[in-house]
Amino acid sequence: MIQKKICMLGSFAVGKTSLARRFVEGIFSDTYLTTVGVKIDKKVVQVNGTEINLVLWDLYGDDDFQKIRWSHFNGAAGYLLVADGTRRATLEKAEFLEERARKEIGPVPFIFLINKNDLAGEWEIDSENEAQLAEKNWTVFRTSAKTGEHVDEAFAQLARKIVG
Ligand code: GDP
Ligand code: MG
Repeated sequence: MIQKKICMLGSFAVGKTSLARRFVEGIFSDTYLTTVGVKIDKKVVQVNGTEINLVLWDLYGDDDFQKIRWSHFNGAAGYLLVADGTRRATLEKAEFLEERARKEIGPVPFIFLINKNDLAGEWEIDSENEAQLAEKNWTVFRTSAKTGEHVDEAFAQLARKIVG
């Protein structure tokens, strides 16, 4: 079976671990779990009838980007870039991380997730921000690890970008 490594990238507490858990295990837990080091999960997805084994790396998320261990991204075929809709600063951080990722791992596909859509009333990221992302040709999903909204779709879209 074709195997592809993908990674989660984004500021601290945007929901990377929660999205990975929702995708792999189909659950959400409010218990705060800081990822220490790296957690690796696997899930099989179908792209045009072909099974792809996604090997999902959820890395230690520290707010200080200097501490991201880019060596963990070696061999990544793509990644999910995540921001928290309730914190605009995480969007600016994501734009910075995308540039950095391009240098570190090359121009691999990514999908941008604006997470915590279940808290839409508290959002600081607005449609104008999203329009700017569309201009840059970013593929954007509003997700919620809590309700599961668009989570499977986002991973499937990344898999399609990688093998399609
Ligand atoms: P990480 O640091 O990016 O891995 O973020 P976590 O997955 O650890 O999540 C950080 C916090 O945000 C935790 O308290 C989660 O329960 C919460 N969280 C994550 N995703 C969502 C979501 O979609 N909606 C809401 N309401 N909370 C979320
Ligand atoms: Mg985490």
